[in-house]
Parts: sequence; structure tokens; C-alpha cells
Amino acid sequence: MLAATSHGPEEIRVEEVARPQIESPTDAIVRVTTAALCGSDLHVYHGKIPAVDPGWIVGHEFCGVVEETGDGVTDMQEGDRVVAAMYPACGHCPACIARDHRNCPQFGVFGMGRQFGNLQGAQAEYVRVPFADMTLRRIPEGQTDESTIFTGDILATAFTALKAAGTRAGDTIAIVGAGPVGQLIAMLAPSFGVIRTFIVDLVPARLAEAANHGAIPVDAGKEDPRDRILSDHGALVDRVFEAAGNKPALETAFRLVRVQGDVVLVGMLVNEEFPVSAGLVWLKNIQIHPVLGDPFNHREEILRLISCGHIHPERLVSHHMPLTEAAEAYRAFDAHEVQKVIFEVSA
Ligand SMILES: [Zn+2]
Ligand SMILES: [Zn+2]
Repeated sequence: MLAATSHGPEEIRVEEVARPQIESPTDAIVRVTTAALCGSDLHVYHGKIPAVDPGWIVGHEFCGVVEETGDGVTDMQEGDRVVAAMYPACGHCPACIARDHRNCPQFGVFGMGRQFGNLQGAQAEYVRVPFADMTLRRIPEGQTDESTIFTGDILATAFTALKAAGTRAGDTIAIVGAGPVGQLIAMLAPSFGVIRTFIVDLVPARLAEAANHGAIPVDAGKEDPRDRILSDHGALVDRVFEAAGNKPALETAFRLVRVQGDVVLVGMLVNEEFPVSAGLVWLKNIQIHPVLGDPFNHREEILRLISCGHIHPERLVSHHMPLTEAAEAYRAFDAHEVQKVIFEVSA
């Protein structure tokens, strides 16, 4: 089968690899119809994730059709159209029963190498999905791959971030980083009662897109975001979402939050330095929430928001590409030339 594979920094190849097989009774093999390119894939692209061996298949955001199931799969059936969570959970251990899936001993992320559960990725024609009954969710009738694919990762991440921050009606928030996750936080914010959303970035096209989702764009290349927020809003904001995953964005986030406000770290951080002192965090009484999306606890709520037309996550998709163009897609995404790429893998 064809798959996009990592071969060290800045080298993605599309090549023929062996098709995955059922390895455990609770596995399913999914024929991938659609796979997305996620910001965290760029960490693999830049060689920042250890133990991604040469030839590792990348990608963790995908929809597909169940092709084959192991004997222990009871819910998912051959032919089901499904969207996957970016990480599997077993569903049976004490952590999963407590709905604390991150503490599941089986935790791993598709396409992130041996350190993250040893799972091959989904930017491929087929993918092996552990704990299929739990990891997969049937796509609701009337919905498409594009409208639901992000519930497995970036949309769940945006939703989890707003929840983690304790977002409430009447809040004003700021988002630092207008990439896909930042855009989705802006799109979801009104569902949480947020009345005003500032979004900070350096890329004009991203800011224009965020304005379409109702956010107030702030170009950090042209003005100081703190001055702009103080002049428009008259105060610093209640909650700030660092959605870029880099040190300058973190610094900005801490400059924008009010005393006793919340800062959510939602961009994927790897080895960045923490840019503020413990003293400042203490003095301002800032609550810090590092967040990894929680699709298992939030995908049902998110699917309801999609089904009733309250949010339109498919509007985020800027480019459709065949999987054979994966190398170019990674380059263009890394260069901020494209917003959100969907690989159309099979019909
Ligand atoms: Zn991701
Ligand atoms: Zn578990």
C-alpha cells in the first residue's frame, strides 16, 4: 500500500509499504478515506520527536471505512464509516473506566514513533487501529469526513482547551496563534458564551480567516497585542490560549492575561523554555493548564454542535491533495502557505 513516511528532518516520502495486519483481537484495519495534516506532524517533520524510525508512517487525524475486525471487536463492523481518535484507549482499565483516558496504560499516538505507543500513522491507505470499539466513532448519518474528521484531534483539542480554562458566559479571551487549533477555538468560543475573542498572529491570511470565524484579528507584526487589547477592551483578558507551540507565543500569552486569569498551553510544546518566572505566575495568580485534546470525553458534545449546524469545522479545510503529494503538502504547511490540508486517500 502507499503511505507517507518520515525519513529524518524535512524528509517525507510517499512509498510502498506492507499493509497492516490485525495483531490483537481488539484491532480493526481501517481503509483510510481522508487523512489530515496536523500541526503536531510538523514536529515529526522537523525531527523533534525521538524514536520515529526512518520509514515510520506519519499522521493521526483520519476517517475511513472498517475493512476488517479482530475477534474481540464487538461494536464496529466491516463497512462502518468511522472517524478515529488521535490516540487509542483500551476502555477497560481503571483509568478508562474513570474516563481519564490519558492515564490508560495503552496510551499512544498514531504516527509518533516508538515512544508514543509504537503505532504506525494514518497518512496511508490502511491503518491498524487498536481497541477499535473505543478508538473509532461511527460518522453520524448525514455528516461527511470533512465535517467530522477534526473531532478526533484538533477540534477535540480546541474544545478541551476551552473547558480546561473554565470558560464561561461573558468572557473575553485571546488566542495566540491563528493556525487550525486557534481558528477552531475562535469558532467554538461563542458556544461557551464568550463575547469577545482576540486572535494574535503574524500571518495576514490566517488573521483574515479568523475574522471570518468572528474573532478580532491582531497583527503582532504591526502592533503590540497588549496595547491593542487594553485599548479595545479596557483590560487584559480572562483567558489566553497559546495555540502556536513556541516560546514567543508563550511570552505573549502571559502578557495578555489578567490577574487571576487562565493560560492554556494548547500548542504542541517539545523542548521550549518556560518564558516566565514562578514569581510572576504567583504574583498574578495565573492558572496554567497544559492541554492535550480529549476526544473520548468530548466528541459526542462536539458532534452535536456540528449536527445542529452550530459550528462548521469543514470551513477550515483550505486544500485537498492526493496522498502522493504529501512531501509538498508538508513543505507548504510548514511554510504557512496552506492552512489545513486534507489528503484524499480513497473514495
Ligand atoms: Zn494532531
Ligand atoms: Zn485504558
